[in-house]
Amino acid sequence: MSRASLPRDPYEVLGLARDASEQEVKKSFRRLARELHPDVNAHDPQAEEKFKEAAEAYEILSDPQRRATYDRYGHEGLRSGGYAPNFDAFGSIGDLFDAFFGGSSPFGGRSAGSAQGGDVAVALEIDLRQAARGTNEEIAYEAVDRCEHCHGNGAEPGTPIETCARCGGAGQLQVVTRTPFGQMMRTVVCDTCHGDGRTAKQPCGECRGRGRRAGKRTLTVDVPAGIADGQRIRLSGKGHAGEAGAPAGDLYVLVRVRADERFVREGDDLITALDVSAPLAAVGATLDVPTLDGTTSIRITPGTQPGEVLTVRGHGMPSLRNGKRGSLRVIVNVVVPRRLSSEQRELFERLHDTLTDENLRTEESMLSKLRRALRHQAA
Ligand SMILES: [Zn+2]
Ligand SMILES: [Zn+2]
Repeated sequence: MSRASLPRDPYEVLGLARDASEQEVKKSFRRLARELHPDVNAHDPQAEEKFKEAAEAYEILSDPQRRATYDRYGHEGLRSGGYAPNFDAFGSIGDLFDAFFGGSSPFGGRSAGSAQGGDVAVALEIDLRQAARGTNEEIAYEAVDRCEHCHGNGAEPGTPIETCARCGGAGQLQVVTRTPFGQMMRTVVCDTCHGDGRTAKQPCGECRGRGRRAGKRTLTVDVPAGIADGQRIRLSGKGHAGEAGAPAGDLYVLVRVRADERFVREGDDLITALDVSAPLAAVGATLDVPTLDGTTSIRITPGTQPGEVLTVRGHGMPSLRNGKRGSLRVIVNVVVPRRLSSEQRELFERLHDTLTDENLRTEESMLSKLRRALRHQAA
């Protein structure tokens, strides 16, 4: 996600109008993906990049919610909403390709015949309270499943499976490609049997002989108390189905914790600011301060200075390791009254006249306070 510039407009990438239908989105992506297939277009060294771009555009526009977010807020809106394309980290391009075309991906996602299923990544957004308590969240995602109709073998039930006529059972073909250095022979996965070496006499009507199909899945994720923004939960075996009995890939749930306007998190501590009027800071008071669970009262001692930090133990975030809760650190923001009435103004003036050096002396000079503040900022 450390891309310097924002990605292109997905409508532009897929060559679609803003009001394109779901079918048109799908059709356009299929067409583009076919064009960019390296076996078709071996001369374009950027085919993979372009395919990625098309796949990202498809992932945005094929999901109604994401598409609506993009339409209103653009790429930035998708990012701040916690959505990041799946493709960079997990190599799921191969599986997306697979779901559309069957067979082996030209992008190295899988190799002939073997193939554990690929991993899938989804983002899950929760708020700070949910992060503190832990939560069970239902997520929906798209993954490749084994076809139930043919049990994954690609043949219509009750029909025979035969040696592939195209590759003679090898699962591979030799093809000649023209390159700037002359003709090159290379081995590709057989496009008829997709590497199996065997084909169904009558392909399964449900999956068109692929044995696998893309489908929506939902499952409930157990998010542990204390999880931090950006952490991943791995659900083993919940990714794309593998080929012919090979194990499934994993599902990675990227947890995004929404920013809370009251608290800033630092490790297991929470930091909040509390406004205290200057007169109260001078005489002292017991005040309510917000916590994740409601409020708690804290004692402001007489003479509390601006920027002083009061620590309330046990009201921070629970530690992921041992569940022990951190502290709530309350920064006292002393508010000097403004827009005084004439009576208030008179009171302040009378108060001021009574003040002595003893009242105004501080333990720390203004300059050293400033230095401390700047150090904090730098750290
Ligand atoms: Zn099937
Ligand atoms: Zn074959």
